[in-house]
Amino acid sequence: MPKRVSWRLVKRHRPYRVDEVSRLLSVSKGTVRRWVKTGLPIVGPEKPFLITGDDLIEFLKNRSKKGQKLKVDECWCFSCQSPRKPAYGEVTIEVSNQKSGMMHALCKNCTNLMFKRISQAQILELNAIVRVTINRQTNL
Ligand SMILES: [Zn+2]
Repeated sequence: MPKRVSWRLVKRHRPYRVDEVSRLLSVSKGTVRRWVKTGLPIVGPEKPFLITGDDLIEFLKNRSKKGQKLKVDECWCFSCQSPRKPAYGEVTIEVSNQKSGMMHALCKNCTNLMFKRISQAQILELNAIVRVTINRQTNL
């Protein structure tokens, strides 16, 4: 899960250099450069690259939207890089203790295996939405 970064520190009408963004938001310069590679717009073709406050705020906002919590029947698919629902409406849960279990499901889009930790309460909730198979691991 990416670190939460507060865009509220950014001044809308100010241009920033990479090192200034890095200091302002307490992230590494490498992180800022990665943002640029993944869609954060820069001003001008030459160094030092400038990033406008406006663009930075927009970028950080969209990014935190992506980091929203998954719905109970969704898992993060590392192939699709998105939250996905389980294929065939089927999930398997490995339960090893009273409090939580590990949910396994296939991605509806690419059928890659996805998994996440899930609480007992969420298992009940999930049971109402999809077909749940529970494997109890009893190592007593
Ligand atoms: Zn997928």
